[in-house]
This record gives sequence, C-alpha cells and structure tokens, in this order.
Amino acid sequence: MNEELIKEIELAKKHLLDQLEKIDDKRSLLRSPELRALYERIPKIEPDQRAYFGKAVNSLKEEIALAVDQHVNQAESLPPIDVTAPFAPNVDMSNRPSLLDANMGSLHPLTKEIDYICDIFESMGFSVIPSREIDDDWHMFTSLNFPEGHPARDDYDTFMTEQKDKEGKPWLAPAHTSTMQNRVLTKFKSNLEEGNSIAAILPGRVFRNEDVDARHEHTFYQFEGVFVGKDVNIGNLLASLKTFLEKYYGTDIEIKTQPFYFPFTEPSLEFAISCPFCSKAGCRVCSYSGWIELLGCGMIHPNVLKAGGIDPEIYQGFAWGCGVDRLVMMKHNIEDVRLFESGRLDFLRQFSAGGDS
Ligand SMILES: [Zn+2]
Repeated sequence: MNEELIKEIELAKKHLLDQLEKIDDKRSLLRSPELRALYERIPKIEPDQRAYFGKAVNSLKEEIALAVDQHVNQAESLPPIDVTAPFAPNVDMSNRPSLLDANMGSLHPLTKEIDYICDIFESMGFSVIPSREIDDDWHMFTSLNFPEGHPARDDYDTFMTEQKDKEGKPWLAPAHTSTMQNRVLTKFKSNLEEGNSIAAILPGRVFRNEDVDARHEHTFYQFEGVFVGKDVNIGNLLASLKTFLEKYYGTDIEIKTQPFYFPFTEPSLEFAISCPFCSKAGCRVCSYSGWIELLGCGMIHPNVLKAGGIDPEIYQGFAWGCGVDRLVMMKHNIEDVRLFESGRLDFLRQFSAGGDS
C-alpha cells in the first residue's frame, strides 16, 4: 500500500481514538461518518491498492471496536455513586468528611410552624395547597381586581425576570400568597355546584423589594385562607380566624377589626387580637398596648369571584393573608426577622429536638 494511503488510515485512527475519549455514547463511534467515509473510499481506490486499503480499513474498524469495548466495560465496572452523599465519593476519597448523625438535623422553625398551622386548618376542614414562587402578572394582580396601572400595585413591589410570559409581561416572584386565589376558585368551583363550599389554606414563600432591617425581609412566608359558599358573611370570617388563633395560641383571645383597603376584598379589614402573652396587661410583644395587629382580611370582591368563574350573586366568600414569620417571632421572642434566612446554626439549633421549641 502506498504511503499516502497509510497516512490516511493513521490520521483516521488518531481522530477516532481522540473522539472515543470525548464522547459519551462510545458505541456511536462505530457508526461515525469518518469510518463510513473510509469504506466509501474503497471502490474508488486504484485497483492495485484496493485490496490492501480495504484490509487496512477493516482492521482499523476492529481496533476501534476493541477500544470501544474496553472503555464501556471499564465504565460499567466503576463503583456506583451515592447521589445523596454530601460529598463526591469518587473524587476525594482521602479527605472525605464523616457523615453527620441524622438526628443532628431539624426542621426550620418556619417550616415547623407552617406544618402546625396547616394541621389546625385541616382539622377545621380546609385543604392545604402550597403557593408558588414564580407567577404571571394576571394571577398576581389582574385576577385580584388590580387593573393595569392601579396605584395599589405599587404596594406589592417585587422581583421580576427578564423572560416574558405570553402576554409579554415579566414573570414575577409573588409578593403575596393571594396569587393563588384565582387558581383555587377555578379549580374548586365544582364544589359549589355540588352544594359544598370551597375551603383552602395556601401557605408559601413570598417576596418584596424591601429595604431589609430587623423588621423587614425581602423573602418571607404567608398563609392565605380562602372560603366560598352560600350565605357566607363576615361573621363567618371572624369566627374562623378566632377559632384558629385560639387553637394556635392555646388560650382564649379577643379580636377587633378596623376598616382597611385591599383591591381584592370588599369590605376589607385589619384584624387585631388581644395579646396572648400577657392577656392585655401589656408586655414587650404587644408594645405594652395589650393588642397585636395580625393580618388583613375581608369579603372576596365580586370581581375576584367573577374572574374565577363564580357568580357573586349566588356565592360569597372571605379571604385573609397572614405572615408566618411574625407569628414565629412573637411566639419565640425573636427580635430580628433576618435570622430566619441567615443559615446561622446557633440560631437554628435552638429549634432542634431538645432545644427551645
Ligand atoms: Zn402583651
């Protein structure tokens, strides 16, 4: 075989072996265009060289097939990787940390509290539906009776993505769990047609563009309550909240309300409770006033019911949004909201088993 053809085979071999190291599907190398091109060349080779060249191409293919087999076998004989391990077991075996005892971990105090809140509401007949951490403008505002350009939108200043939804608006990190209301109304309106009510609790993480300090965080937790049925009135709202809070604090409480404004409820109320820590005598938690302003609530605005496909002439409902962080801060006398997201172990360990919980 002439030197030129020998060189051509050598070059192809080098290229194929290089490829073998790089590609994931090693066996696909045997169907590679380079190898196919060599076979297609055979009939075009001058007759006196053709048989030699054909043999050389065949033995190249055998050599590559052998190398592929070796690589595949080697990969299959590697020890399996434990994807749950807190380190890379196949990378740094010499310096691997010893495993932590499982009982050293604990639930975050906010997670614990949300579980507790949901347990109480489940015992009262509410379904628990987690909220979401990214949503569109329509669910966050328009479906809740905040029309385009409505000044109340400014109170819910949050973070947005550069990517746009199908209406050309940025996706939003929800500033309140109310972003779920329309989904709940739409999903469960068949309950109403069957003569039942809609009762749901919507816990979730929410976001605001805040100047962060001891009382304000950009990331915090809320739980929304939604109830819709026939002949529902504001007395049902106040009784539901009072029942929950008395179970939650394990003590009798008094409640009081004053008018407020939210676009998605009418009437809207600010809801306060007698201080469960001092029975109105005055303490640090209630700033010595005996009362604690706790949440916003009201009767669901007819436009919000309509947006969920529910006839406000037949059905009425109430809703509230309550911050979880504040409940936990009051319960455990925590003075700085930033501790929750700080990842500080000295803070978190106080809530682990055996700690102050
Ligand atoms: Zn008090």
